[in-house]
Amino acid sequence: MSDLLANLNTEQHQAVTLPPQHALILAGAGSGKTRVLTTRIAWLISSGQCDPAGILAVTFTNKAAKEMLARLSAMLPISTRGMWIGTFHGLCNRLLRAHHRDAGLPQLFQILDSADQLAAIKRLLKTFNVDDEKFPPRELQHFINAQKEAGLRPDAVEAWDDYTRRRVELYREYETQCQRESVVDFAELLLRTYELLERNEPVRRHYQRRFRHILVDEFQDTNRLQYRWLKLLAAGDAASGTPGACLFCVGDDDQSIYRFRGAEVGNMRDFEREFQVANVIRLEQNYRSHGNILDAANAIIRHNSGRLGKNLWTEQGAGEPIRVFEAFGDSDEARWIVEEVQQLVREGALRSDIALLYRSNAQSRVLEHALFSAGIPYRVYGGLRFFERQEIKHALAYLRLIANADDDTAFARVVNFPTRGIGARSLEALQEAARTYNTSLYATVPHLAGKPGTVLAQFVRLIEDLRRDTARLPLPELVDHVLDSSGLRAHYKAEKEGRERLENLDELIAAAANFVAESQADAGALGADHALLADFLAHASLEAGEHQADQGMDAVQLMTVHAAKGLEFDAVFLSGLEEGLFPHENAILEAEGLEEERRLMYVAVTRARQRLYLSFAQSRMLHGQTRYNLRSRFLEEIPEPLTRWITPPKPRGSAATGFGGYYEPPRGAFSSRPAAPPAPVPPRKNTGGLQVGQLVSHARFGKGVIIAAEGSGADARVQINFGDAGIKWLLLGVAKLEPC
Ligand code: ATP
Ligand code: MG
Repeated sequence: MSDLLANLNTEQHQAVTLPPQHALILAGAGSGKTRVLTTRIAWLISSGQCDPAGILAVTFTNKAAKEMLARLSAMLPISTRGMWIGTFHGLCNRLLRAHHRDAGLPQLFQILDSADQLAAIKRLLKTFNVDDEKFPPRELQHFINAQKEAGLRPDAVEAWDDYTRRRVELYREYETQCQRESVVDFAELLLRTYELLERNEPVRRHYQRRFRHILVDEFQDTNRLQYRWLKLLAAGDAASGTPGACLFCVGDDDQSIYRFRGAEVGNMRDFEREFQVANVIRLEQNYRSHGNILDAANAIIRHNSGRLGKNLWTEQGAGEPIRVFEAFGDSDEARWIVEEVQQLVREGALRSDIALLYRSNAQSRVLEHALFSAGIPYRVYGGLRFFERQEIKHALAYLRLIANADDDTAFARVVNFPTRGIGARSLEALQEAARTYNTSLYATVPHLAGKPGTVLAQFVRLIEDLRRDTARLPLPELVDHVLDSSGLRAHYKAEKEGRERLENLDELIAAAANFVAESQADAGALGADHALLADFLAHASLEAGEHQADQGMDAVQLMTVHAAKGLEFDAVFLSGLEEGLFPHENAILEAEGLEEERRLMYVAVTRARQRLYLSFAQSRMLHGQTRYNLRSRFLEEIPEPLTRWITPPKPRGSAATGFGGYYEPPRGAFSSRPAAPPAPVPPRKNTGGLQVGQLVSHARFGKGVIIAAEGSGADARVQINFGDAGIKWLLLGVAKLEPC
């Protein structure tokens, strides 16, 4: 056991070996929070204080959960099988499957990911003839999820105006629809589990008695409902002699980046107060990053107010300066990144130790293109994830119908894909009838007469055949069979650009095989007809391709900054450091939004162990528009001595012709940061003295912030974010803008 604790500093040691009480570990990035949490689990078990079954650990991603299990198996001579370690969603899924009847769900209920949920909401609006301009589906989705995250069912939502009342009605109808289809969205997973635990005393007592230690990583990003869920599980009950569990939470208020999804740093304060946490431990030594990187992170986050206050230090040397590159355009930026990546690999770096991070998914395309052209293997986390690709969704829809025929989202997706002559009219008739009978689309088919009834009945027969023929097949063969018999394979074979899609479909079989191999360790789920299929489908919804980057060859990792949370890499490239992009234009207006962007920047910078590369482009193609942005204010917040600025050796005036004309300066010949910072683009005079980032007011739209500028003379225009009034391009010569 002493081995377990050998590599810990004094504070970490103290945290790992705390007596069984509630504790909060509040510490900055890279200070060993996750390591402490994992080691504590190992320590509790190996010192005989807790059985593996008595541990519940919540991580932020499935990848993190897997890593934790792998580390635990390395530290302990025990099987980690059956340990409750996972994400909130994963754990809730497990609980609901085990108690589906108590939770009012069929055993094979399906999970809607957020794209499925949006599709379901659109279908709902159509069914009820709701004007989707008045009730935009995305907003309604956000509204419903926000209510669920606040723990509110439709009856409990307070509605003071007609608009909200209508939204609440739609929320109610949405619930009915989901229940009828036996589907559960992400927020529902949590709320349903919470309600189950709250209302069902035997189930609650069972888990309260079972879990002695509850450990939560990335606690700063838990939302209210998750916090209440934890509170419920950790609570004891004097009457029945159930002692409460010990809650051990680790987090960093400076890395709270999910405010938009309802996460609340306030949970940390509430936790301290409500649980009378006697042990608050701070870790200040950073083991991850070289000094320059850490100093930059500290300097950036210092600009935020209301922090709980921490100061990170490291024993490691300053290391390399942070390289900052100013590119003419986004392609030049990507090319520079690729060249630096190649250099690192030549110097012996593993590609998987290199990460390319960006603020928005849309930025990955240019980077991917450059990597692809240079023949560098790469993998994208997030974005169009494997399980979100169209062909995979189609295949999954067939599988879902086999598991649960009442899943209308799946039904609507493939009833006429590949085309089998079922027109919009037939579908409308079916939907109409489904409303009348209050049954699922599938169950309504027999009620339909005439030609639509005949064609649809054929589809139903196809699904029934699939279900019968696959009942005894191992999962990968089942998937293979469905790909053929559904006609999906033939469809994509006939498609001109279908090759990649066919490869992806084969990959789905591989994913199924992989899933079987992994879950065999956890054999409980096997056996019952199609039960493993339901588990696989849940895995597909929950994991959404996270694991794809784990396997196969050594590849450069691409992901958004959000997805990089908790991870670390030897070298990190952070591109697109431009006003409007990072900080994001939607966040510039309010101070709170800006602070969240800064925390995101802090997360990005602190992912790097040895090298950090920052870059921005004078012009960028995004969403089909060329934008001219100024470099991000976050760059200005990094003290100059920590950086080395690299500019392509071209006169600035040639920017317009500079695309593709960039060449890499010989290594070692990088210029230092120029004495004068690069001129804003376009030059100041074009914007009549106004600058990007400046607050201005407009007679009609009110106050806004300039987020981009372009053109000159009579054509000079600025783009302004007016908050509620939207984002507008205005001609300077025409619009009367007042600085304020
Ligand atoms: P984040 O806030 O980014 O999630 P964290 O606080 O969870 O970071 P860890 O990921 O646990 O930090 O640790 C960062 C790195 O430092 C890891 O590589 C970890 O193995 C290493 N580390 C932590 N503590 C020590 C230690 N006492 N000695 C050596 N290395 C350590
Ligand atoms: Mg961590």
